[in-house]
Amino acid sequence: MNLKEMDLEYVLHTYSRNWVNFKKGKDSILYDEEGRDYIDFTSGIGVVSVGHGNERLARAICEQARDLIHISNLYLIEPQARLAKELVERSGYDMRVFFANSGAEANEGAIKIARKYGEVDGEIKRYKIVTLKHSFHGRTITALKATGQEAMHNYFGPFPDGFVYADEISAVENLLDEKTVAVMIELIQGEGGVEPQNIESVQKLSETLKKLDILLIVDEVQTGVYRTGEFLASNLYEIVPDIVTLAKGLGGGVPIGAVMTGLKDIFSPGDHGSTFGGNYLSSRAALEVIDILDSYKNSGALDGTISYFKESLDRLAAEFEDLFEKSVGVGLMRGLRLKDGDLLNRMVNAAFEEGVLVLKAGRGTLRFLPPLLISKEEIEEGMNRLKRALKRL
Ligand SMILES: *Cc1c(COP(=O)(O)O)cnc(C)c1O
Repeated sequence: MNLKEMDLEYVLHTYSRNWVNFKKGKDSILYDEEGRDYIDFTSGIGVVSVGHGNERLARAICEQARDLIHISNLYLIEPQARLAKELVERSGYDMRVFFANSGAEANEGAIKIARKYGEVDGEIKRYKIVTLKHSFHGRTITALKATGQEAMHNYFGPFPDGFVYADEISAVENLLDEKTVAVMIELIQGEGGVEPQNIESVQKLSETLKKLDILLIVDEVQTGVYRTGEFLASNLYEIVPDIVTLAKGLGGGVPIGAVMTGLKDIFSPGDHGSTFGGNYLSSRAALEVIDILDSYKNSGALDGTISYFKESLDRLAAEFEDLFEKSVGVGLMRGLRLKDGDLLNRMVNAAFEEGVLVLKAGRGTLRFLPPLLISKEEIEEGMNRLKRALKRL
């Protein structure tokens, strides 16, 4: 039985996999079992923020694994407390943090905070949460219901009550009523097509919600930890959310999620918990990732990489104007909108054959989420390969 047969026989078929077998990665390059190399413009869907085979991250994880990997949240966990402090300080918000293992789980925590905020004298007075069409908040039953793409809800009901979907930010206000406790948005919709929200509309919504005592939850699972060039996309939008969730890029590949909130005393012991969340291994990994990315940002290198990547993509969009309608995105979260969305699969496959990994997203978007530390040479090489792929279409 070869590896593909084994996978098909024993793993549930939830992904339409590409059958390549990667054996090693270094920075933004992956190597398959035949030694072919691929420029990685995906970073494992925005996860491997410091690149593959990062020496500092590998050393931190190894050192930590020798001392302690896990004990449980019943005891003090030094790197968890340190990580919470770093996250709060970087965010610029007066918050506390709960650690989970994934984006969906971080969002579950956010939704639980909102529900508890809606309680008055033991009764849940307000429970409704407004989210956006085209949003993506994760795959657990509740996070899936929070996700405003109705097609994804097939088969899995009945769902928890209380989620309503606005067509766009400007339509959120119309859906607010006396039962509404929170609004949950991505500032740049990732899966929904790398679609940034308008800054003025977000700031206006944020002010309205504060007046109405309705919470603003910002899902920064994809946009957080410097993906947009700032530590949080919320910093870029100059708002102060009530709740922020993080995951993807935070652990550099080690699973970790976080929910941060200014409602610092909303939970009492027993209200929420996690066996693995914020254990020694994942917290230590995240501490190292943040330290690496901090110096990268502070030296100006991150901003340089962002401009270079954006300019390269804009040039590509101009050169292939018959294929692309426009270049979208913020920071190192970018997309090229196709004129004909049906070409998307062929484009991703052709890119793969030329040795460059890219992603798909909603609204017919070719999506790019490179490691934040990607070099100019890697960008240049990836763009050349992509050009060859596009010429073949
Ligand atoms: C990926 C993603 C999630 C889900 O994260 P998981 O770790 O897969 O559970 C939630 N929200 C956003 C915005 C995401 O991009």
